[in-house]
Amino acid sequence: MTRAEELAGNLARVRERISAAAVAAGRPADDVGLVVVTKFFPASDVRLLADLGVADVGENRHQEADAKAAECADLRLRWHFIGGLQSNKAAAVAAYADVVESVDRPKLLAPLSRGAHERDRAVDVLLQVSLDPPEHGNRAGVAPGDLAALAEAAAQTEGLVLRGLMAVAPLGEDPAAAFDRLAQIRAGFLTDHPDATTLSAGMSGDLEQAVAFGATHVRVGSAVLGSRPVVP
Ligand SMILES: *Cc1c(COP(=O)(O)O)cnc(C)c1O
Repeated sequence: MTRAEELAGNLARVRERISAAAVAAGRPADDVGLVVVTKFFPASDVRLLADLGVADVGENRHQEADAKAAECADLRLRWHFIGGLQSNKAAAVAAYADVVESVDRPKLLAPLSRGAHERDRAVDVLLQVSLDPPEHGNRAGVAPGDLAALAEAAAQTEGLVLRGLMAVAPLGEDPAAAFDRLAQIRAGFLTDHPDATTLSAGMSGDLEQAVAFGATHVRVGSAVLGSRPVVP
């Protein structure tokens, strides 16, 4: 089997899971988008995925994403940055990312705005909400109690378009319970920002639960590309 055939089969299975989950949730089969997370995999795979109709790809490390986006600049893909973001890298990320999904603190807004300005194009942002219990401390994502202030600041930042929310279900918890909390957080958020309807939630292992609780797109890596190499 060629790599193209392998990716085509995996992609078909993932698309089938997504549409089945949408239908099970009483939503249209094509209601939920797919971002294929290509981190750790080469630009050649991104190219094969583009040939298979993938329009959105996700990356979580700036250097790798920057290089891959440059190598694939001819493909007209939408690049989603989904990883932890340092404020000194944020402007550089905004130079190639079409969507920055991991905005979790006000300090990132000015550099992202600067990057968008340099590129002369607005950048879509999602606010990453932490679903971890507060005692977990420093996990990625804004605490739900701080979301409203961050959203207000993001909405007022020139060059950024607030599109919605992103979250990752905590390890060791039933993802349905976590995404249920997320749906409630989102309902409150939408009363202040009714146009920011994007909800990025769900990965290879929990996309069905995320779709059941309103995800508008899922971020799937290993179910499409295979297992990632273990980082030493
Ligand atoms: C790696 C990653 C994914 C994809 O995870 P899989 O389990 O491989 O589908 C999704 N979201 C984020 C934020 C990630 O870092």
